[in-house]
Amino acid sequence: MSSRRALVIGGSLGGLFAAHMLRRIGWDVQLFERSGDDLATRGAGIGTHAELFAVMQEIGVPIDANLGIALQERVCLDRDGEVSHRLPMVQTMSAWARIYRPLKDAFPAERTRFNARLTAVECKDGGVTACFADGTREEGDLLIGADGIRSTLREQLLPAAQPRYAGYVAWRGLVPESDMSPASHAALFHRYTFCLPDGEVLLAYPVPVVDDATQTTHRAMNFVWYRPVDPITELPDLCTDETGHQHAQGIPPPLIRRDVLAATRASADRLLAPQIAETIHRTKQLFFQPIFDLESPQLTFGRVVLLGDAAFVARPHVGAGITKTALDAKALATALDTSATIEAALARYDVERRRFGQGLVARGRRLGAYLEGQLKPIAQRSVAESHQDPMTVMREMGAPHAGVRELSAAAGSSVQP
Ligand SMILES: Cc1cc2nc3c(=O)[nH]c(=O)nc-3n(C[C@H](O)[C@H](O)[C@H](O)COP(=O)(O)OP(=O)(O)OC[C@H]3O[C@@H](n4cnc5c(N)ncnc54)[C@H](O)[C@@H]3O)c2cc1C
Repeated sequence: MSSRRALVIGGSLGGLFAAHMLRRIGWDVQLFERSGDDLATRGAGIGTHAELFAVMQEIGVPIDANLGIALQERVCLDRDGEVSHRLPMVQTMSAWARIYRPLKDAFPAERTRFNARLTAVECKDGGVTACFADGTREEGDLLIGADGIRSTLREQLLPAAQPRYAGYVAWRGLVPESDMSPASHAALFHRYTFCLPDGEVLLAYPVPVVDDATQTTHRAMNFVWYRPVDPITELPDLCTDETGHQHAQGIPPPLIRRDVLAATRASADRLLAPQIAETIHRTKQLFFQPIFDLESPQLTFGRVVLLGDAAFVARPHVGAGITKTALDAKALATALDTSATIEAALARYDVERRRFGQGLVARGRRLGAYLEGQLKPIAQRSVAESHQDPMTVMREMGAPHAGVRELSAAAGSSVQP
């Protein structure tokens, strides 16, 4: 099955993993990204898994010590900043740009078209035509939709599959270690830290960050603070900027109102360990993302394939979104390389990655049940929605095993490590 042409829509991690993996099995690959330039300046911390590094290694990306920071334990800090719970757990934390940058650099620049926004796809027997906003059209034997949670392709082919708001947002930020006080640095920088105020979860961990100008690696503290936000009475206000404009798909970080930021910092002082509150105060660009999850009942449509966040989005507590994306790409390449026809390969991919995605979304919902339950009256909450056991949270949230191995086995995956 060599010399086939694949059109990959989306130049983020899903698109890059798919593009690399298909090139490795001899496909002619062209990548299309709607943004005008490199995405590396955005993004924050991520958890990693052995399965992610295995795919990167297969692509030929060197796995060196700068790719992540290895941690040995997790702790929970109480309101006074004292350790209330402790759990040994070995885990490597990285940053989105540390994965994106080497994948992008290793992909031939002439094979990527930026400013290329897909508007529609036309399917025909044995091929596809991609239509772009600038009026151009491209033909291929296969089209891979790696265009994220708001996928244009999914919207066209599967309009009923919509992201579902989970009932809470994640406040996030990064603080360079040089901006932290010595006391907070000493308390936080060598481990994975939780704070568990009533109805909320905060986690913080160090990550490597590359300065794009100097190409030097430094380290920063990354935090994620999950807070219930009512979709009707609170979220629209949170997403409204200083001019009164409401950003329905999520407000860009620089547009978040000063009073919203001030209220969040005041809540940090009231609810969190002082070392974490101080870190939040020292964050230059505090921002939030509403949490969604998404399930697609079908992943292939003729010669069109959904992959990565376009196909399934699990809540970030699972900590495996990027690993799932890498495994989607590997499964697609394996199926194409070892099946008699493209149709047979896509049928295999559809069954396998749907099972895996469903399992991951279910795990994310289970881990987030307590946060989601906060919007319900106490009498209507299930046990999982009412009770948050610190040791269980520390053991399961963003844990390095994340069920990836078990879910791969249950999905009958051909890409088990
Ligand atoms: C800039 C950025 C920063 C991120 N930072 C983090 C992070 O810090 N931690 C974390 O866990 N996850 C982060 N993510 C999400 C993470 O990349 C995904 O959850 C996961 O890796 C799946 O990636 P994806 O490529 O499927 O989707 P996405 O990463 O969402 O990428 C989709 C891509 O498709 C492009 N696109 C969308 N529509 C079209 C269209 N019509 N035509 C052409 N291109 C289109 C988008 O511009 C985007 O580049 C980030 C995503 C982005 C884009």
